[in-house]
Amino acid sequence: MFFHVQKMINEIVPDEPDPAAANALQEGLGGQFGEMRTMMQYLFQSFNFRGAQARPFRDLLHGIGTEEISHVELIATTIARLNDGSPRYSGNPTDLDEPAAGGATPLSNALSDGNIHHFLVGAQGAMPVDAVGNPWSGSYVYNSGNLVLDLLYNLMLESTGRLQKCRIYEMSSNRTLRSTVAYLIVRDQAHENAYAKALESLGVNWSKTLPIPKTSAEKYPEVATLLEQGLENKQYTFDLDHLSEAGKIFRSTSPSEAGQTLRTAQAPEGVPIEIADPRPEEFSPGLDPELLELVQATAELELAEADEPIRYGPAS
Ligand code: MN
Ligand code: MN
Repeated sequence: MFFHVQKMINEIVPDEPDPAAANALQEGLGGQFGEMRTMMQYLFQSFNFRGAQARPFRDLLHGIGTEEISHVELIATTIARLNDGSPRYSGNPTDLDEPAAGGATPLSNALSDGNIHHFLVGAQGAMPVDAVGNPWSGSYVYNSGNLVLDLLYNLMLESTGRLQKCRIYEMSSNRTLRSTVAYLIVRDQAHENAYAKALESLGVNWSKTLPIPKTSAEKYPEVATLLEQGLENKQYTFDLDHLSEAGKIFRSTSPSEAGQTLRTAQAPEGVPIEIADPRPEEFSPGLDPELLELVQATAELELAEADEPIRYGPAS
């Protein structure tokens, strides 16, 4: 059961209308890492929670999910404020003023500023879409049911959301936009801390957390074979000029397996690629004898005109 209080969670500072700024904020509302996702992700994780012994984690998810409802309200309202009156707004860059009246094409700036849907489909309000108009999608929501995995995703989500809001902040000095974005940046950090703490209380110390799920899967024979080759502790650089420094990170003890050492390698040996057989019943690739003849002629021409292939090899 949810209660509603008729208050905004943070003050929205008044400033001039700014439809381009409103559209940037749409990413923070309906984007892949926006407030609609945090709200739905944490609420679904709490609704679907299993294991009464782990109840404090359920309650943490439920609490943050509930706060996110207010963030959705805050950012949606901010978007509406930034759009409100802007089609007729003729601009006084210094004072806060009433949008100017009229003209024969009062919605003309919908063609050039922000998201035309804010004016064409909606009535200068927020929409459940990202900054380029993609509709918000339930497929963004991550809820595996594995607590550690869900918490890792939540930490990733808060961190990405915070990164994007810092970028949005740098896009506009509009005080309406900045008041809301600044608040959300700080709350994102609070939530980063919450999920990091929750992971720590579950033993991060990564050696206690990884692997996820808590098995090396050696009971699957194919996996066991690869484990015997030490493949879980090898990282490839795919770096033919030997300039990669990734090996400085991927070294020393394994975070997920006591006594194992991480190693860096250039690349796996690989196996030959076989091109799949034609499937005439699928009309695939659909080459009749005439087309085949053209394909063959083209291939021969390209081979004849090709430069010497660049040959990579080990650095000498
Ligand atoms: Mn939020
Ligand atoms: Mn959050």
